Amino acid sequence: MPTLLGIPFDANSSYLRGTAGAPAKIREALRGEASNSWSETFVNIGETGAYGDEGDLALKEDGTAFGVIEEAVGDLLKKSEKPVSLGGDHSITYPVVKAFAKHFPELTIVHFDAHPDLYDEFEGNRLSHACPFARIMEERLAKRLVQVGIRTLNGPQQKQAVKYGVEVVEMKHLPVIERLKSVRGPVYITFDLDVLDPAFAPGVSHREPGGMSAREAIAHLHAIGGTLVGADLVEYNPVQDIAGLTATVAGKILKEILGKMIAA
Ligand code: MN
Ligand code: MN
Repeated sequence: MPTLLGIPFDANSSYLRGTAGAPAKIREALRGEASNSWSETFVNIGETGAYGDEGDLALKEDGTAFGVIEEAVGDLLKKSEKPVSLGGDHSITYPVVKAFAKHFPELTIVHFDAHPDLYDEFEGNRLSHACPFARIMEERLAKRLVQVGIRTLNGPQQKQAVKYGVEVVEMKHLPVIERLKSVRGPVYITFDLDVLDPAFAPGVSHREPGGMSAREAIAHLHAIGGTLVGADLVEYNPVQDIAGLTATVAGKILKEILGKMIAA
């Protein structure tokens, strides 16, 4: 069963904080009464027992948070649950995937983001939200990493992508529906809200114009093949949001992810 896990942690954000406030707002949007509880793939998320909710983790900024995250996700995987983590900044994906790697050595990660997050270190922090996929790939925690919607590739990160065999699909080369359809085996989706154009999702720390529409993101999500075993939704920053617009989009994306998991 898909199980929500709130990870209110934004201490590894390089620019603005605020994403720690996201889990509560995303849950509120998911359960809001402005729209019905059915996904577009015709799954009723609102049915009793459709998904679980472990609540939010209590995390400190004393260096213990990643251990707590990895353990909590590992506990859910031991119970054969499908953890859906609500960040928090994107740094949390590293300890989450560390737990997944122990159960799924052949994991494919499909990564939606404006940014490749492949820096070896950022401003002296190797655990920065700009670095999680460098850590994941250097520790071989995933068999395959497919990045979708990238539009901030630079020299150092392109080097990293080549070094680790990352499949970077830049925004300008979308759509990439057929390649996603051909994905096989266990799949983990990590969805950074800033993959969306700021016109659709202004509530992020790093607004990067030229991004996906909500429709393009949903079409790409629906296309992903393989077996969806886990996901996260990160980088929603309520402090930057306008009239809860981004929370609504986050709730919608989450509903489609849950629908996809339940249907499988
Ligand atoms: Mn990111
Ligand atoms: Mn990003």
